[in-house]
Amino acid sequence: MILDCAIIGGGPAGLSAALVLGRAGRKVILFDNDQPRNAVTQKSHGFITRDGVTPREFRNLAHQDISKYPSVQIKKCKIVEVKREKGSIFKLITHEGKPYLSKKMIIAMGLKESLPNVNGIRDYYGKSIFSCPYCDGWELREQPLVLISENNNAFHMAKMVYQWSKDLVVCTNGNKIISETEEQVLKRKGIIIKEKPILKLSGSDGKLEKVVFEDGTEINRSGGFVTTDLEQPNDLAKSLGCEVNKNGRVIVDVLGRSNVEGVYAAGDVSVVGPSQLVIAAAQGTCAAMGVNSDLTMEEFK
Ligand SMILES: Cc1cc2nc3c(=O)[nH]c(=O)nc-3n(C[C@H](O)[C@H](O)[C@H](O)COP(=O)(O)OP(=O)(O)OC[C@H]3O[C@@H](n4cnc5c(N)ncnc54)[C@H](O)[C@@H]3O)c2cc1C
Repeated sequence: MILDCAIIGGGPAGLSAALVLGRAGRKVILFDNDQPRNAVTQKSHGFITRDGVTPREFRNLAHQDISKYPSVQIKKCKIVEVKREKGSIFKLITHEGKPYLSKKMIIAMGLKESLPNVNGIRDYYGKSIFSCPYCDGWELREQPLVLISENNNAFHMAKMVYQWSKDLVVCTNGNKIISETEEQVLKRKGIIIKEKPILKLSGSDGKLEKVVFEDGTEINRSGGFVTTDLEQPNDLAKSLGCEVNKNGRVIVDVLGRSNVEGVYAAGDVSVVGPSQLVIAAAQGTCAAMGVNSDLTMEEFK
C-alpha cells in the first residue's frame, strides 16, 4: 500500500495534520516515538478550551478525535531513515527496519533543547523552572524569580519575565553575555544581575528554593526561567535536502511546503516564531491542507 501522507511526529502539529487529512479521507500513518519536549511539564497553558491540560491528556484527547477517522493510523515507533524511491514516492524506515511508502510526508518532529549547564537543573525544569513565560509565567507571577541564561537571549528574556515578576535576578553562570548598556537598562528596573558561576540549585520535589553560587553565597528564589538552545532532533530533514533558516528550522510556505517537493513541515521544527501548542497545531492544519491540495491537483492532471 502507498500512503497519501506519512507524518513524522505526534505532537500538536502532527496530530492536527492527521485529523485534517483523516477528515479528507486520506490514507495516513502518523509515526511517533512519544518523546516530546514538553513531557517534563505538569500542565500546559494557553491553548483555548484546554488551558491547564496535562501534556498526556492533550495527546489522549487528540488520539480520541483522530480515532473517528478510519483512514488514519497512529504507530508508536521511531523513523530512522527517509529516502526518495522511484519517482516521487518516499520510503520511510522505522527503528525496527520496517519500510513504509508514501506520496507525501509531513515532518512534525519538534525540537531538541539544551538547558544551561547548571548542576541539577533538570530536577526543576517543568516543575518550577520553565522556558516560556507565556506558558508558565502566570503560575509564577509576583514571586521571587531567577532567570538562568548562558546565551544572547538573556537580555530579551529578562525584560519579558519582568512583566510577570518585578523581583528578578538574572544569573549568567559565569558568562559575560549582558553588555554594559543592557545592564544599565535592567538595573534601572531593579533587576539584579549575577555573573558568577552557579554551584547548584537547591529545593525539594522540583520546587526551587535557592540558587547556590561557587563562592558560597546563595539567593532565595521560588522559581524561574531559563533560555534554551534549540536544534533539529535528528538528521531526517537535512537528509531530505530541506532548506533551514539560521536557527536551523525548516523553511516552509504558508501551507507547510518545504523546498523539497512532497515534503512539508509543521510545528516547532519549522516555525520562525514562538513555540506554542496552539501555533504548532495551526501549522499542522496548514500543512495538511497543503498536502491535500497538492494531491488533489495532481489527481486532476
Ligand atoms: C517545559 C515546556 C513547557 C511548555 N509549556 C507549554 C505551554 O504551557 N503552552 C504551550 O502552548 N506550549 C508549551 N510548550 C511548547 C510546546 O510544547 C511546543 O511548542 C509544542 O509541543 C510543539 O509541538 P510539535 O508538534 O511541533 O512538537 P512536539 O510536541 O515536540 O512533538 C514532536 C513529536 O515528534 C516525535 N518525533 C521526533 N522525531 C521522531 C522520529 N524520528 N520518529 C518518530 N517520532 C519522532 C517526538 O517524540 C514528539 O512526540 C512547552 C515546552 C516545554 C519544553
